[in-house]
Amino acid sequence: SKAVGRNSFQLFKSSMNARSLERLAMNSRFQHALENDEFELYFQPKQCLKTSKIKGVEALLRWHDPALGVISPAQFIPLAEELGLIVKLDLWVLNNAGAQLALWQKLGITAGRLAINISAFHLSQGKLSNSVEQMLQRYNLSGHCLEIELTESSFISSFSQAKKELQQLKEMGVNIALDDFGTGYSALSYLTKLPIDTLKIDASFIAKIPDEYGNSEVVAAIVAMANSLNLQVIAEGVEKPEQYNYLLALGCEVIQGYYYSRPLTQRQWLAFYQLKNQP
Ligand code: C2E
Ligand code: CA
Ligand code: CA
Ligand code: CA
Repeated sequence: SKAVGRNSFQLFKSSMNARSLERLAMNSRFQHALENDEFELYFQPKQCLKTSKIKGVEALLRWHDPALGVISPAQFIPLAEELGLIVKLDLWVLNNAGAQLALWQKLGITAGRLAINISAFHLSQGKLSNSVEQMLQRYNLSGHCLEIELTESSFISSFSQAKKELQQLKEMGVNIALDDFGTGYSALSYLTKLPIDTLKIDASFIAKIPDEYGNSEVVAAIVAMANSLNLQVIAEGVEKPEQYNYLLALGCEVIQGYYYSRPLTQRQWLAFYQLKNQP
């Protein structure tokens, strides 16, 4: 009922304050959600500006709570990290990504890598590469179809541990992207200390181009730096043709954003692919 929904929402909101009883409730809600298929992956295609073709897809998590409706990952990911549930959630995403990739291969879909978001916190645990290896074996996949986007919600506590993990992933053929580049904890030191393949320029920079002069200069500098370091660069949150054209002129290879496509359900994504690949 409506009343229940409202109360649950209150509970959800105030659990951000991490009061212990509410944390407990949130914890069990989460477990319940994992066991009852309340999570779903959406897929947002990325576009190569050189060929105009699809250049990979990012999996984005959605939580459909029966009482609360769709809850954004921007709300529940930080909470999952706080409650120590993020690794469990990452593993759910990893396995579902594997199932999707196996299906896409069966359907003959060639759209580049499927990227999943993994909390940087997970890296410090030292078990990510094992989990990825198991997933690849389980679905009989090559690591070349997978990309991992490291999200910068937490500082990487152990660089040596993270480096070891990432190197193992790279040996399997998995691509490593640094998400939200230019914000938060994502520092230049990551580029020199960790084996990174791709930079994703944070949407907050893209939102302000080409109008704000200083901002466009920052984006241009990141693209130039990425090119000279032989890193691939992706601009996130591209919404307008002016942004698209500016990035094209800069030599930015890949874009992602509403301008090309919104995040799609599995069904919508398959239709999108079919449409783009019509002769
Ligand atoms: P992100 O990885 O930076 O993902 C991009 C976010 O921007 C997504 O929000 C996407 O829907 C949104 N977006 C894409 N194009 C545009 C655009 O043109 N304009 C605007 N305004 N927004 C755009 P979403 O799906 O709500 O995800 C938010 C964040 O939650 C993600 O940011 C990521 O950090 C995290 N997240 C999402 N899925 C997962 C997951 O499976 N695991 C983990 N650990 N984190 C996830
Ligand atoms: Ca991402
Ligand atoms: Ca991002
Ligand atoms: Ca983000």
